[in-house]
Amino acid sequence: MSIAENYQRIRAEIPSQVRIVVAAKGRTADEVKEVIEAGATDIGENYVQEAETVRQSLSQDLIEKVNWHMIGPLQKNKINKALPIFDFIQTTDSLELAEAIDKRVENSGKEAITLMLEINIGSELSKSGLKPEEHKKFEEFLEKLVEDISQLSRIRLEGLMTMGPLLAEPEQFRQYFHRTKEIFNRLARLKPERVNMKYLSMGMTDSYQIAIEEGANMVRIGTAIFGPRKDHCCLYLKK
Ligand SMILES: *Cc1c(COP(=O)(O)O)cnc(C)c1O
Repeated sequence: MSIAENYQRIRAEIPSQVRIVVAAKGRTADEVKEVIEAGATDIGENYVQEAETVRQSLSQDLIEKVNWHMIGPLQKNKINKALPIFDFIQTTDSLELAEAIDKRVENSGKEAITLMLEINIGSELSKSGLKPEEHKKFEEFLEKLVEDISQLSRIRLEGLMTMGPLLAEPEQFRQYFHRTKEIFNRLARLKPERVNMKYLSMGMTDSYQIAIEEGANMVRIGTAIFGPRKDHCCLYLKK
């Protein structure tokens, strides 16, 4: 099946209120073009440089047709480059990073940028994201963080994202997604200025169905749309 057919099949099978972020790491501009022309609304990139390279080969019209999401860790020294590219930064994992972004938005020509907090729900040390195990009272810690971020005038905070740990069986994701949804529900009750926790981004190719059952309204899908990545081993090859 073609990229366009894959996208449209998945779009038709997922409830319409669930936003699909097409995870495009390692894909060419032609592949990204095909999926935008097939109707994709949101593109996710893991690296600022790669997003820039892809966009240089797309027409302005195609670039503006979609929302661009940063879904990989954002280094502070890449913020200035990232701001003109991305509409969403899903991987915010500290107040410091949010403050650094806020400071640089003005010079980027944007009025504001939308951030989401990345929760490392498995508390995996090797990965970025806010780790529950590092805080005695994680929910209280997050509530304070949301409150602090709401003070930043150029930041709109709109949700949570999680990767989930690396697991062999999709069903094993369920408890992690369930826990993230509980955290999301709690934070969604907070309504400080500039905060509107409406997106819960979780689920990838092998886990998006379970993520949606557990309350995701944004999923990030790459392999099921583009096919296996060349640099990417094993976990999904059984499909
Ligand atoms: C690669 C990636 C995805 C998509 O993964 P697939 O298994 O290819 O669907 C989703 N989210 C993030 C952060 C990624 O890096």
